[in-house]
Amino acid sequence: MTVLMDGKKLAQKYRLSLKKDAELIKQHGVVPTLAVLMIGEDPASQVYFKSKQKLAAEIGIATIDTVMPVDSSQQAVIRQIKQYNEAANIHGILVELPLPPQLDEKAVMEAIAPEKDVDGFHPYNIGRLFMDDAGPVPCTPAGIMALLAEYQLDPAGKRVVIIGRSTIVGRPLAAMLLNADATITITHSKTNELERITRNADILVVAAGQPEMITQKYIKPGAIVIDVGINRLGSGKIVGDVAQEDVKQRAGYLTPVPGGVGPMTSVMLMKQTLKLAKRSVEFERR
Ligand code: NAD
Repeated sequence: MTVLMDGKKLAQKYRLSLKKDAELIKQHGVVPTLAVLMIGEDPASQVYFKSKQKLAAEIGIATIDTVMPVDSSQQAVIRQIKQYNEAANIHGILVELPLPPQLDEKAVMEAIAPEKDVDGFHPYNIGRLFMDDAGPVPCTPAGIMALLAEYQLDPAGKRVVIIGRSTIVGRPLAAMLLNADATITITHSKTNELERITRNADILVVAAGQPEMITQKYIKPGAIVIDVGINRLGSGKIVGDVAQEDVKQRAGYLTPVPGGVGPMTSVMLMKQTLKLAKRSVEFERR
């Protein structure tokens, strides 16, 4: 029987403990605060934007939300970020992606002060992660690590295959699992003989954005399968990158879609905001 790794339930557990953490920080006279910057009104980003506001409010994190016009210049966006960097009451800064085409994503990310980089996308924080000295880390991989821990699945010594080498999922997750003593293979769209590689995986993470591409034949019997994909089909149905019903015949553990990795991402964002706020309290006490 495949164990379904319940991200919805774990996210709920985190929400309760994060509420307590927020309360403790407030007792030191600091209101944990997240600044969220959205450029343009991309409908998908707006959905994420609103759900983050709601979750933050539930936990007790204040949000400062700014929506800038879709045709904002690079200079104007960077000026706004610098204001956030300098504001002592702001602990975390998040810029909704994707950005409109006139903006240079790399330059925008680099404008965020590393100590307020709640998404962990700043090159300084990515470098620290790869040196096993992590500061803020990207939230989706952090959610995956939390799910593995909850089910007491220690990556140490395990053979891990990650499908997808994006900077938001595949690459940072590889670093986190490496730091946790796993042996890592990263595969991507140019990989030859993918199936031969994945069949060796004790842990297979799929973050390719290809609806239901992974079927039983890619899976080692009993493997832990983490499905990161969120794909909306023409019918409106949301499916992962794993053909769930088929893979259930073979996997030992599987994250469902929806209800697996997805709900963990936003709670990790809140967890990281609180960590940054806590650090500012400790800093003031010194
Ligand atoms: P991306 O498009 O940036 O990267 C996809 C990666 O998959 C690339 O490295 C590409 O080389 C690889 N790939 C594509 N097709 C492949 C194939 N046939 N074989 C092997 N490799 C292949 O995507 P991303 O931003 O990393 O997101 C991946 C998926 O995860 C998407 O479905 C996205 O919606 C989802 N996602 C979910 C969460 C969450 O919170 N659950 C967060 C981020 C992304």
